[in-house]
Amino acid sequence: MLDAAFFRRWMTATAVSVDREAERLTALDSPIGDADHGSNLQRGFAAVTAALDKEAPATPGAVLALAGRQLISTVGGASGPLYGTLLRRTGKALGDAAEVSEEDLAGALRTGVDAVMALGGAAPGDKTMIDALVPAVDALGEGFGAARAAAERGAVATTPLQARKGRASYLGERSVGHQDPGATSAALLVAGLAEAAG
Ligand code: ADP
Ligand code: MG
Ligand code: MG
Repeated sequence: MLDAAFFRRWMTATAVSVDREAERLTALDSPIGDADHGSNLQRGFAAVTAALDKEAPATPGAVLALAGRQLISTVGGASGPLYGTLLRRTGKALGDAAEVSEEDLAGALRTGVDAVMALGGAAPGDKTMIDALVPAVDALGEGFGAARAAAERGAVATTPLQARKGRASYLGERSVGHQDPGATSAALLVAGLAEAAG
């Protein structure tokens, strides 16, 4: 079973890897965006870990709700409301249980990813974070390691795609040949789950 401490470890592990990879995320956002994805998420996840330390929410749902609120209020870009919605909706789907199963989490994450697609209008293949998140959720039944590998493959597979959502879509065919920054950060988020599971 997964308790609030597991969800805090997930958020902390993600904050550490976002911090470590911030320059790379911003570099990916340079040719097909506005070169701020790494700094946006660095600011956001720093706020998430600070808020979790301060408030120490007692349930998995409350951890994700607080994290999502922080991302929405501190990440300036498109990715803030999208990641914020992902975590808030996933947290809401987990309810107020003190512990949840891996199956519960897989189902809740599916709800969260569906909410991101509804909010942003992106579908798989549009060269966004969805291209890492959907394969990860599909693979979660086989465990966190499988989900992590699926997200990483999904992020790499955005390179030949033409962007149909977000800033990169303004470039049309010129968006082809670059890995999507948001799919890359989504793979870090999923990797954080595997790290939290240890
Ligand atoms: P901004 O584009 O506002 O500067 P960021 O650079 O932080 O925001 O985030 C860009 C990432 O957000 C993209 O690489 C993409 O993965 C994701 N993204 C943008 N628009 C959408 C959308 N409508 N649906 C899903 N993901 C999106
Ligand atoms: Mg950007
Ligand atoms: Mg921006």
